[in-house]
Amino acid sequence: MKINYFHFIFCICSFVLFTACNIKNSSSTASVNNHSYANYISAKTKHLDWKANINFDKKIIEAEATWLFTNFDKANEIIFDTKNLAISKVIIAGKEVGFTLDTTDHEYLGSALHIPIEANDSVVKIIYSTSQSAKALQWLTPQQTADKKMPYLFTQCEAIACRSVIPCQDAPAVRITYTATITVPKGMMAVMSADNPQQRNANGEYHFVMDIPIPSYLIALAAGDIDFKAIDARSGVYAEPSVLINAAAELCDMPNMMSAAEKIGGAYGWKRYDVLIQPPSFPIGGMENPKLTFATPTILAGDKSLVSLVAHELAHSWSGNTVTNASWDDIWLNEGFTTYFERRIMENITDTSYTDMLWELSYQDMMADITDLGDTNKDTHLKLEMSGRDPEDAFTNIPYEKGAHFLWLIEKTVGRKAFDKFMTDYFRDNKFKPMTTDLALKYMEAHLWKDTPKAKKEVDVEQWVFQSGLPKNCPRPGHTRFDNVEFLSKIILDSTDLFSISKTIKTGGIDNIYDKPKKWTTHEWLQFLRKLPRNLSLEKTNKLDKTFHFTNTKNSEIAFEWFMLSIGNKYTTINASLENFLLHVGRKKFVVPLYKQLIKNGNYALASNIFEKAKLNYHPATTRAVSELFIKKEIK
Ligand SMILES: [Zn+2]
Repeated sequence: MKINYFHFIFCICSFVLFTACNIKNSSSTASVNNHSYANYISAKTKHLDWKANINFDKKIIEAEATWLFTNFDKANEIIFDTKNLAISKVIIAGKEVGFTLDTTDHEYLGSALHIPIEANDSVVKIIYSTSQSAKALQWLTPQQTADKKMPYLFTQCEAIACRSVIPCQDAPAVRITYTATITVPKGMMAVMSADNPQQRNANGEYHFVMDIPIPSYLIALAAGDIDFKAIDARSGVYAEPSVLINAAAELCDMPNMMSAAEKIGGAYGWKRYDVLIQPPSFPIGGMENPKLTFATPTILAGDKSLVSLVAHELAHSWSGNTVTNASWDDIWLNEGFTTYFERRIMENITDTSYTDMLWELSYQDMMADITDLGDTNKDTHLKLEMSGRDPEDAFTNIPYEKGAHFLWLIEKTVGRKAFDKFMTDYFRDNKFKPMTTDLALKYMEAHLWKDTPKAKKEVDVEQWVFQSGLPKNCPRPGHTRFDNVEFLSKIILDSTDLFSISKTIKTGGIDNIYDKPKKWTTHEWLQFLRKLPRNLSLEKTNKLDKTFHFTNTKNSEIAFEWFMLSIGNKYTTINASLENFLLHVGRKKFVVPLYKQLIKNGNYALASNIFEKAKLNYHPATTRAVSELFIKKEIK
């Protein structure tokens, strides 16, 4: 998942579940293992057949989940995770059986569903429906989509929200295959993290097969006004019709990314790799649903400058989807490996001067989180302690960027050739195994360090993984392209007559300061904006805007940095554009800090006014996070 920057605050809610009459209510609490109530050590699911009717009128899914399982220990019950599901019937061997749904509805773990089984049972069918508050589901009205013709639904199951869609053993250590029959309104397309249709089916019934075992957090579904366009024989793009052509053009490097990734990870094991461009309210950057990445439309900058997000999600095909963190304590094994891998893919299709910019910007993001958390905070360890906490809190920049920098340091220490061999072997040898930090370090010991103890000491693995803050040997890029940015911004800011300069400036051999920025990528602009003084005068802010047209940029990353700067500088010219941005973009990475910045700078009324209009367009998680800002007036 590419989420960036934040750990989210969730409100504490409790629900009294409506349950069918044959339920034996219980307040007993199953033991929690890896954020799951499931007893998968004793009785473990292995295949799901899911029949689901997507009811857009009621905003619920009415479904049957038929689970195949293995009863290893002759257990007398199988336990599933649920969250706000209305279970109506459970059937084993053709007979309805009684079941128990714990009445205690934990704020993020939900309720355990206990189903009695015999020693030889291997199939259970659960008939149920989701609730309108299902955490993993976002229902959009036609008005909230790009083309405004049909309603739209998408899921976001990571970390532990699959249980709000399907009763399941919702732990990353449990891998299952699935088949599904999904019914949607006629004329609509449905897609899943599975083999997908490429054309719409007139009757609205779609069949899916995922025959490679995956953890539950990678089950995904989207339905709406969706079309497909191929890029090459094994990759393509799904999107709403008006977005499709531009999306396919923006992502035309996907085949090159796949070839680059295979050089490091080994052969791609999921047959196809497609990307679904979601409506603007999609709350995160991207989600690595196998075979079909879900991605925010904010990566469509028009110049391919933000496609590293696709490289990230593609890299997850190996790190995360093939070798999966056993628990959310080990999330750096998914996200750190993937972020490092992403940089290597980008280096392959661009060059090191480009990836140096990615490293530098991400270093800044990581340092912002370390500063925010405090450098003695245990949440700055790579190996986290998420027991008793919402696993969503694990998704800061630490597992992503500290993890990636750790691997980059190892690469620099042992050499690229040796490290690449390690990566390929790691993915091959640990395929479909749940991976813990300890197991990964043992593998590293056996395959990387055993002949190079000096290198291990130099890296200081223990400090990187089990201690807080950032070790002093953290690698840094040369970032020459950013040196140029800083040189130019100094000229621009120091000049007394700066914005009338249009002729040759001889200093530093730069012929014309305006020619250089024209060739900048998004990353150079981001660095330029991030390095500007925070207390820029209104006059200079205005002149910068008049010269470089930041307020009306269509690039979401640049717009975000500019809005953050402008709010701080009380530059109100942005207000109409800012409101338009917040009404149309739902990505938490942008939305939450912008509201926070508005509140912090005394614009509470403006923030509140915009939020009232915009909140219907946001994912529930985004709405919750912004609401918290207003409730707590969380101002730093
Ligand atoms: Zn990720």
